Amino acid sequence: MKLIDTHAHIYLGDFDSDRTFLIESAERVGVTKILMPAIDIVTHQKMIETEASSGGIGLSMMGLHPCSVKENYLTELALIREYLEKRKFVAIGETGLDFYWDLSFKDQQYEAFQQQIEWAIEYDIPVVIHSRNSTDECIRMVSKNQQGRLRGVFHCFSGSKEQANQIGELGFYLGIGGVLTFKNAGLDKVIKDIDPRYLVLETDAPYLAPVPYRGKRNEPSYIIYVAQKLAEVKGMTVGEVAVITTANAQKLFGL
Ligand SMILES: [Zn+2]
Repeated sequence: MKLIDTHAHIYLGDFDSDRTFLIESAERVGVTKILMPAIDIVTHQKMIETEASSGGIGLSMMGLHPCSVKENYLTELALIREYLEKRKFVAIGETGLDFYWDLSFKDQQYEAFQQQIEWAIEYDIPVVIHSRNSTDECIRMVSKNQQGRLRGVFHCFSGSKEQANQIGELGFYLGIGGVLTFKNAGLDKVIKDIDPRYLVLETDAPYLAPVPYRGKRNEPSYIIYVAQKLAEVKGMTVGEVAVITTANAQKLFGL
């Protein structure tokens, strides 16, 4: 069985003591790639070093997380541009809008998101979207920029059936993670009716660990619990879930 974790921050300090071990655990459950979303200037170098020492399993994205859009966002964007000119990245991200934590840089979040969407088109790579309390706004941003070439994923999707369908119609994928296993989240009822060709798996490690590890540090090997839950929700086998979500991820990210 082959699985791809399309979203895991394994370069963060949370994993400094056992990174090699957790990559091995991920490989043991069938994970063949771990895609690493960038956050900001503080962690870009660490991410790239983690990629280099991951034995080919870790692949870096490049971008500015919406929660890191602060006073220095133009400096951050200029640095991203430099990185993009220097080497290839698997995607732009994570970018998007976060209206949950802090609204004081709302306009700048829009500006940074727009810029990163344009880079995704220019460099012809997917865009990985963080859309906390902003799914409709992010859908509008994609829709406004969709002239056929833009592609990507709404990471950690937890919206409605209607939003899921709109995202699919825009040619985008839904990143499904630990939230699917949370009782009362209701995501299972939404995903039940969504065509699996729109779904990719992710952990968002170290955050949002699936049941039975909810509340603990998340890691890529726990993707198996997401795959199992998705199989249950869709009435498929775990093997079938692995085949289709891995093919989706390979197609989207060109793996
Ligand atoms: Zn993330």
